[in-house]
Amino acid sequence: MTSIPQIRSLVTAIPGPRSLELLKRRNDAVSLSLGMAIPVIVERAGGGVIVDVDGNSIIDMGAGIAVVNVGNSAERVVANIKAQVESFTHSCFTVAPYMGYIEVCEELNRLTPGTHKKKSLLVNSGAEAIENAVKIARNYTGRQAVVVFEHSFHGRTNLTMGMTAKNMPYKEGFGPFAPEIYRMPMAYPYRWPGGTKVCEEEALEFVLHKIEKEIDLKNIAAIVIEPILGEGGFIVPPKGFLPGLSKFAAEHGIVFIADEVQTGFARTGQMFAVEEEGVVPDLIAMAKGIAGGLPLAAVTGRAEIMDAVHGSGLGGTYGGNPISCAAALGTFATIAEDDLCKRAQEMGVIISDALNAMKAKYQVVGEVRGRGAMQAIEFVIPGGIEPNASAMAEVIKFCQVNGVLLLSAGTYNNVVRLLPPLVMPFDLLREALDILDQAVATL
Ligand SMILES: *Cc1c(COP(=O)(O)O)cnc(C)c1O
Repeated sequence: MTSIPQIRSLVTAIPGPRSLELLKRRNDAVSLSLGMAIPVIVERAGGGVIVDVDGNSIIDMGAGIAVVNVGNSAERVVANIKAQVESFTHSCFTVAPYMGYIEVCEELNRLTPGTHKKKSLLVNSGAEAIENAVKIARNYTGRQAVVVFEHSFHGRTNLTMGMTAKNMPYKEGFGPFAPEIYRMPMAYPYRWPGGTKVCEEEALEFVLHKIEKEIDLKNIAAIVIEPILGEGGFIVPPKGFLPGLSKFAAEHGIVFIADEVQTGFARTGQMFAVEEEGVVPDLIAMAKGIAGGLPLAAVTGRAEIMDAVHGSGLGGTYGGNPISCAAALGTFATIAEDDLCKRAQEMGVIISDALNAMKAKYQVVGEVRGRGAMQAIEFVIPGGIEPNASAMAEVIKFCQVNGVLLLSAGTYNNVVRLLPPLVMPFDLLREALDILDQAVATL
């Protein structure tokens, strides 16, 4: 597929001299408010590696935050983009429609869970998808309250900052936030008071009771939840929690919105993470893995809800840009033809075997969790469950120095998350996991 050799190879330190020199320009020209997971400048990327300007080939365990699930510059994505660029680059769908947008919506209506009539809307980013899902739910229900959860991340716009749980770095100094957002406890088995078993038995009832008493059912437009929390540290709610919320929403005329921005598009071993328990959301927000790296996002849901908003009530200049749509169609074809759901499951077995072996060996590993090619380690102070942020930082640093790019996560900055491209060769994945094991061993 990619012509880039699928190897881990370091020819300089990380960062190398060329990256260091160019990073000076970055710091001079680019707002310093932006983060940087690894201090190198990228030259090429494909399959499971990123090659920097010094010629270092780094194993990519982040996929640009679960975006290039199909790999960087995937063949079908590139071919579709090239053809589209030659035809036209923009007409604005709400000015003069084109087929790419329509075809992406048809595909999303088909690919998302549920056999009911569905319709879709395309926008530019995950935050914008969430904003639109909430707008639609409010307009459809005539209600205002939005239920969200602890540890959740929904974006960086004003509404989605308000919906996001963690203050630093996402919200600090950026208020005031939008009203009518109600945050409920998250069913976080590892940290639920009383432990995993109590969480399984009590979390759902506890949350439903709070929702009813603190907001009142008649006021609630939507319940919004990530099926597996992304930035929050790959928290997987206990079995029954998502189906219970979804059933509760249906019984009370509340729109159930799944934020599948990070979990979507084969990442967890299924096209969407809610499929694990047969949950059929009223609306699904999607972005990240949708278009092989091009900016695109979507809301798909029940036709009667999606059509409830008045004409021209939704839209945007760039939403569903034709090049992004072409890339999305190439992405969907790649996932189907290369059976990337199956591949994510196979990678999941390799990952969970390796991570659980680490848990057995090292007391700093508090919990291993996730699904498919979306798994994480939560680090703790040995002997308890106190978060261990320095362990996470040291592990990420060790891996970086040894040519493996890893991403952090977690409300307590103590989670390392693995999000490899789904086309990464298995031997490269095993090599990255070996380095990770060595990193934890040094703690
Ligand atoms: C990344 C993310 C978002 C925001 O997406 P952007 O494209 O960065 O706006 C929303 N929800 C979840 C679960 C995410 O992971």
